Amino acid sequence: LLEMKNIGKAFDGLEVIKDISLSVEEGEVLGVIGPSGSGKSTLLRCATLLEKVDTGTILYKGETLVHTDEAGTAVYAPPADIKRIRSYFGLVFQNFNLFPHFSVLRNITEAPIHVAGQTKEQAVENARRLLRQMGLEDKEDAYPYQLSGGQQQRVSIARALALKPDILFFDEPTSALDPELTGEILKVIRELASERMTMVIITHEMGFARDVADHILFMDDGVIVEQGNAQELINNPQQERTKLFLNRFF
Ligand code: ATP
Ligand code: MG
Repeated sequence: LLEMKNIGKAFDGLEVIKDISLSVEEGEVLGVIGPSGSGKSTLLRCATLLEKVDTGTILYKGETLVHTDEAGTAVYAPPADIKRIRSYFGLVFQNFNLFPHFSVLRNITEAPIHVAGQTKEQAVENARRLLRQMGLEDKEDAYPYQLSGGQQQRVSIARALALKPDILFFDEPTSALDPELTGEILKVIRELASERMTMVIITHEMGFARDVADHILFMDDGVIVEQGNAQELINNPQQERTKLFLNRFF
């Protein structure tokens, strides 16, 4: 579905992504783990076209979005194509990023109505269905500040799903939550996985990554140190750096 090849990215001369290649298959859950500062969020921002890569190739359903010219510089497809492809991606961040002055229902319907051109009726009906799925059917008139962190995060997942993304990307969706609320969110993500939603999930929850992801990438210092089947990578890491990292969790 999404393919990235030989991606490089530097900030002020500091290389934070070094020649990374990966692919996300339809219906797959890809877990991304690694220490703080290893480049996980940057990689996700490059994959979702929020951040530009310096070099490399990005293909979406075989369509070239980014290629590298002879001088070694990344060349992006025209903005209209990039905008269209970005609409296939849903994003859920650590800090929920809800609109504070909109009700829950409006948080979810705003983009479907104003960006995707759905009618208000369609958008509201779909939002109510998603709120039921998230166990939040009684919260549509609430404002974000009236919700727990776990509830806010479920609203932000509903908001991402309302645009019917092909791929849902999560950047540490539970790291702002205490353990009890973390469980709520992990349950929702497990359910999405059982419905074969394609997802890329950066997480520090190793048990969850092992159970829910199909494939895991372990990143350190801007490179993929090791990748493979989720169970195998977590239970039986091959590289010394992966072992050291995982030892902190188990
Ligand atoms: P964490 O687990 O703490 O979220 P991460 O693996 O997501 O870490 P990144 O946020 O991708 O790490 O950061 C990788 C490196 O890139 C870090 O050294 C960081 O300081 C640097 N970096 C990230 N974004 C920028 C930016 N906009 N400008 C300059 N440097 C940046
Ligand atoms: Mg990060």
